[in-house]
Parts: sequence; C-alpha cells; structure tokens
Amino acid sequence: MNKSMKFSRLLVTLLVGFSLLFAGSLATKAEAAPKYNWKLAMTWPTNFPIFGDAVQKMANLVKEMSNGEMEIRIDSKNKHKAPFGVLDMVKAGQYEMGHSASYYWKGKDVSLMFFTTMPFGMTAPEQYAWFYYGGGMELMGKAYDRHKVYSFPGGNTGNQMGGWFRKEIKSEADLKGLKMRIPGFAGEVLSKLGVVVTNIPAGELYTALDRGNIDALEWVGPSLDLNMGFHKIAPYYYTGWHEPATELQFLVNQKKFDALPANLRAIMTTAMELAAYDMYSRSMNDSAVNWDLIQKDYPDIKIRTFPKEIIAKLKVENNKLLDEKAANNAMFKEILDSQRSYMKKVRAWTKISDFAYLKDNISE
Ligand code: CA
Repeated sequence: MNKSMKFSRLLVTLLVGFSLLFAGSLATKAEAAPKYNWKLAMTWPTNFPIFGDAVQKMANLVKEMSNGEMEIRIDSKNKHKAPFGVLDMVKAGQYEMGHSASYYWKGKDVSLMFFTTMPFGMTAPEQYAWFYYGGGMELMGKAYDRHKVYSFPGGNTGNQMGGWFRKEIKSEADLKGLKMRIPGFAGEVLSKLGVVVTNIPAGELYTALDRGNIDALEWVGPSLDLNMGFHKIAPYYYTGWHEPATELQFLVNQKKFDALPANLRAIMTTAMELAAYDMYSRSMNDSAVNWDLIQKDYPDIKIRTFPKEIIAKLKVENNKLLDEKAANNAMFKEILDSQRSYMKKVRAWTKISDFAYLKDNISE
C-alpha cells in the first residue's frame, strides 16, 4: 500500500465515520424534538386520579402511535389557574386541547350541558350508543361549532350516587331548607323542591359538611368519594338520579386539529375514544373496590333511595325546566328532542336485556 492509497483509505474511513455520526445525531434530534408539540389544559388538579389518568393515557397513546412525532403536555388547574376557563382557552388557541365536563359551560351556552349527563337521562352504555350511532356526535359537533372547537367523549364515571346526607330524607318536608352542594342542572331541579343549593370548591367540602355549613353533598361515587372521606361524617348514602352517566369531554381547537396531517388526526381520534372507554371500565372497577372498603370500615353506612313521591316530583320539575329552556332555544330543543326519542328506543331494549337480567338475578 503506497502513501496515497493509505491517505485515501484514511479519508474514506473518516468520511464514513463523520456521516455515521451526523446521521446518528439527526436520529437523536428526531426523537428529542417531536414535530407537533401540543398543550392540554384540564379542569382537574395535579395527580387527580381516574380523570387525570384518562388524559395521561390519551397523551401516551398519541406519542407512541405517532412514533414520537406528536407530544401533548398536560397542564392541570394548579398550573393554568382557570379550571372553568378551559373552553375559552381552547377556543382562543391558547391551548390546542382541553379536558373538562360539558355541563360546566351551562352558564355560557346552555345547550352544551346535554353532552355530559342529564337528570333521569341515559345510562353510560345507552349514552355511548347515542353518541356514536344515534346522532349524538353530530349534535355535539354542531353545538360546539359555534365555539370553533371540536368535542369528543373524554371518559365516563358511570352512574353517580345521589350524595351523602347527615340526616335521612323521609319526605319532601325534609328537603325544605336543606343546604346541599350539588352543581349544574340537577341543582336547579332540586331547588324547585326547596333545597338551598350551594357550590363549594372541592377542597372545602369535607369541612363544610363536618361543621354543618351544608347538610348534604354529592360528589361522584365510591371511585372518587372514598378519598374525600365523606363516609366518616354522613351516614346516609343516596342512590343517584341526577348524573346517570357523566361523560367528560376532550376539546380540540378546530384550526389546530384541521392543520394536522390525516394520520395524526386518526391517531388522536383513536386515542381519545380508547382513553374515554378505558375510564369507564376503570370507574366501574374503582367504585366496586372502594365500596367494598367503605362497607368493611364503616358497616353502619346506610344506602337509601329517595322516596317515590320525591322522585316523581323531581321528574316533573326536570321536564318543566327542560321544556321552558327549549321554548326559546332551537339548538337546545334539537338536542333535547334527540335525547328523548333515542332514550325511548334504547330504554325499551335495556328493559328486556340488562334490566330484566339484573332484576331477576340480584340477591341481597
Ligand atoms: Ca357529581
């Protein structure tokens, strides 16, 4: 090998080495810097179980399925400080995405409350059927289009309990003047029966109930109630009527979503639907596990259902309020009519399937 051959070999080795290094650094760069960096604002605090976990699951799925091309940073209310400003922030593009509950926008746009849950409304399987196959997604799209935001189901709590009461409710008279924390439309309905409805931040609920500033409250169900400790100070746990299938929502800024390539839009849609359904399964499991724990530690907790005449009256007031609002709001009426007619159909099936099965197979 002569000198010049040696030199050209050295040159080739160096060139190959450099190009490998260069390619290597490019690959590392591609992994470190995703093409799409999104931010999501959620209504919930940091480390909030179940709800927050559903959001994290969606973000993880998007990252994995897109091979790191898209990443979503999650900001809790501790960071953005505006738990009830999520819709506005997504609308303005300050955040590309949000996670919240549609009934929180009742004061802003009353038609949006239907997409979470309604008193005496559908159960979770019935409501999912309405969303995906009964026209619900189209109506949700139409209602949110006015806010330039897309909305997707974001996880279901399943049937919520009617709340923790310090005293038993035996008749309508026991509701007169009763101070209860119950937000949303259900609060409006209960106030028609004389309940004094208040809304208190989550962190102050236990103390308010303990000191008697309120006589009752509703939160979710055993899945999230156990950690709040209400069972230690209120012995009556009422069955639900007001939130039979609370569905949370992912909100996405329309412009930002439309600007994504088709594969990322498909990945996001899939990840959101999967995370939503997963939260429903998780809620069912955690409620079962936690109810078992509550019963073991506090065997004196009494399960109660509101007397029939109270339920009948709540139904009347509920329908009256809905019809009143529908009378001068076309969008509201369209969604109400759709839910009412779909529920009639789907309930007839539930009656001869799940309901018939459970009725004949539940033993105390
Ligand atoms: Ca609730």
